[in-house]
Amino acid sequence: MILFQCKIKSIMKTSNKNIVVISTITLFIVVGVIIISPIKDVQAHDTDWNWTVDSDCINASGRYVCNIPADAKTAHVLIPDLREAIPQQIGLQNAHQKTTLRISTSVANTGDGQWQMRSENPATQELPQLAKQQLLLSDGTLWKEYTVSQFEYHPAHKHFHIAAVTSYELYTATGSSDTEPITKTNIGSQKVTFCLIDWIKISDNSPNNERAYSNCDGQFQGVSPGWMDQYHQELEGQELDVTNVPTGYYFLVVTANPEHNFIEKDFTNNQAWILIHYNNDDKGNPKLEILNQSECLDYPGLCKYSPNR
Ligand SMILES: [Zn+2]
Repeated sequence: MILFQCKIKSIMKTSNKNIVVISTITLFIVVGVIIISPIKDVQAHDTDWNWTVDSDCINASGRYVCNIPADAKTAHVLIPDLREAIPQQIGLQNAHQKTTLRISTSVANTGDGQWQMRSENPATQELPQLAKQQLLLSDGTLWKEYTVSQFEYHPAHKHFHIAAVTSYELYTATGSSDTEPITKTNIGSQKVTFCLIDWIKISDNSPNNERAYSNCDGQFQGVSPGWMDQYHQELEGQELDVTNVPTGYYFLVVTANPEHNFIEKDFTNNQAWILIHYNNDDKGNPKLEILNQSECLDYPGLCKYSPNR
């Protein structure tokens, strides 16, 4: 039954997107021009939240910029805010006629509240379970919980993951001075799963002194405010297959909460990118250079990968 509900949810999502795509195509035909949206506006409509969203989450253009439940502010609920660190550590791997771009990524919570997830029933290796996001009050007590994702067993990592935490995508770039990812390639991984734990502090000024979440096999996972979870490039799944990608300039775009399933304060700060030059060395082997990165001002700990971590 639970699996069935999840499937229904994903089918609903797909059909909503199809409708958007079809109407967009129709609009292009009628108007006769192609309008390309910058990446910040790609996920404009989220229609399958099972709660009423605070009206302040809709901006002047009618787009959702968050998905805070309508009555959370009056109840003084602490809400997380999800972001990606700049993916500074990347590499190329050549094996079995396949070239793979390997990526270390970190998803951070820069909000006010815990990003706390509970498995509805403890998930098993065979049976995924609905993942409930728990919203907490300042004294740590539970205010409400909402079904937002699922817990599923990851056979390569040998622990439980939560679905659709991040996405990794390649966008084409016009050259070494391009600063706006606009056009997606077909290379990407939309729904990367994570075991969410407090792995490292974003900065030394973090208000937390110890990890609140450290277990990938229990009923609870999460990331505390001021902390981030990190997945190293050597882990299975931290990769994009670039075997058939022509040499050139590309953006590697990483997005936290790409489907806007998880409740958070601000969708507009979820993406980070690096501009890369994918090229060949003197011997004709593929190589990578990082030329630029997205703006990274508020949290220096999210701006550069540290080898000490
Ligand atoms: Zn894992």
